[in-house]
Amino acid sequence: MELQDRLEDVRSRVHKAASEAGRKPEQVTLVAVSKTFDAEAIRPAIAAGQRVFGENRVQEAQGKWPELRAQTAGIELHLIGPLQSNKAADAVALFDVIETVDREKIARSIANEMKRQGRALRLYVQVNTGLEPQKAGIAPDDTLSFVTFCREELGLTIEGLMCIPPADENPGPHFALLAKLAARCSLDRLSMGMSGDYEVAIGFGATSVRVGSAIFGTR
Ligand SMILES: *Cc1c(COP(=O)(O)O)cnc(C)c1O
Repeated sequence: MELQDRLEDVRSRVHKAASEAGRKPEQVTLVAVSKTFDAEAIRPAIAAGQRVFGENRVQEAQGKWPELRAQTAGIELHLIGPLQSNKAADAVALFDVIETVDREKIARSIANEMKRQGRALRLYVQVNTGLEPQKAGIAPDDTLSFVTFCREELGLTIEGLMCIPPADENPGPHFALLAKLAARCSLDRLSMGMSGDYEVAIGFGATSVRVGSAIFGTR
């Protein structure tokens, strides 16, 4: 299958999953995760009308997106990988959305950089729903206090919550937990679901799904 066909297949599955959940398909944003793929591999997706992309490394994204952006209007770039404070300036300059805000230090660096650069990014707090020690994200029990800290101490607008369920578990309970935590924080945007489980995530209320290999092929 060509990339265009795979993208079309994912789009129609997103539509179907939304309809089956009694939701409007346009309530679900497809974030095409282009990490590890070069500009040449990404161009067919742009040509097929895809505008929202996810990358997990700041430096890698810097190597391809300025060029791709210069060629097409309306590109929206999401950072979906962990961010180090020393990369905050570069991340704020390049990305439109940071989905991985997960600790006070990085939230503070992002707030400072947005002020300094005069940019307002859309921000998601990453939640480690499975409490996995190797995984980034705030603990579920600390989510409300962290979101409140971001809002009240740093003056940040948080758009929603993001999670990556443990690879070897049924993702449903993790998606349900993220939805519950978001409601508790008065947030209505949920970034959850990847190639293997985005239809399930849509059933649990995902407003954006991050799909890589189902569109671009195996990495
Ligand atoms: C790589 C990645 C994805 C996409 O994973 P696929 O299984 O290829 O769809 C989604 N979210 C995050 C945070 C990722 O790092």
